[in-house]
Amino acid sequence: MGKVYLIGAGPGDPELLTLKAARLLREANVVLHDSLVSGEVLARISASATVVDVGKRCGKKRLTQAEINALLVCYSASHGIVVRLKGGDPSIFGRAGEELEALRKAKVECEMVPGVTAALGAAAAAGISLTDRHVAAQVLFTTFSRGAGANAVDWGCLTPAATLVLYMPGPDYAEVAHRLTEAGLPKDLPCAVVSQASGALQQIRWSNVGALATEEKLPAPAIMIVGRVASQQIREFSDAFWQRAEAEQSDHALSII
Ligand code: SAH
Repeated sequence: MGKVYLIGAGPGDPELLTLKAARLLREANVVLHDSLVSGEVLARISASATVVDVGKRCGKKRLTQAEINALLVCYSASHGIVVRLKGGDPSIFGRAGEELEALRKAKVECEMVPGVTAALGAAAAAGISLTDRHVAAQVLFTTFSRGAGANAVDWGCLTPAATLVLYMPGPDYAEVAHRLTEAGLPKDLPCAVVSQASGALQQIRWSNVGALATEEKLPAPAIMIVGRVASQQIREFSDAFWQRAEAEQSDHALSII
């Protein structure tokens, strides 16, 4: 029997892989990965490994969760190192629980290798300190369910002194703004939307809860950081940083020409 590794691929930049993840990608016999995993990370997989895209995108499921679980168990019977590669960290909105349970039930040896979750990749990209001690004492990684039957979100003891990181905000920013105000957050509370954090196409949009509804949508995957930590001052630092980075890049390109 082989061993299954549930590995976090991080938000996109391959340099954000852990050393352990990078080693296991080189040693893997089989890799089952999500669509969220970047091409640069997939390029680190051993050329001799069998690579299966089990990803789900835009709600179109290619394989059901039960089928993915069954594949993991099946591959572990005939291969030594089976990698289940997930975007970010497997334990954050990554359905790791279901896969670990299926593997434990089938008595397959398994291990989780953590990755940089999107919240941390996005915070780093925007230069935001999620628990800046002057304005935030706690941070909440969360999302909300949609559809007609979805209830008002109970984000517990959420106050403007907490930072909220919203995974899977979707393209309807007006709905997100409504959910946030419904949860009691003030309209002038700042927020940042980070799209494709750490990747070449990364974009950051700064806004606030009141203005979010009319903001231009950024491409998926995107995440929202809501709270005083996304202040105007941080925005200015961040904008200046990326402007410098862009200028350095074009200087570099010109020097090559
Ligand atoms: N396990 C993943 C999250 C999976 S849920 C993790 O730990 O990051 C998918 C959601 O994660 C996306 O809808 C988006 O909100 C967020 N996400 C994943 N990668 C991202 C990236 N590179 N930039 C911004 N958001 C990202």
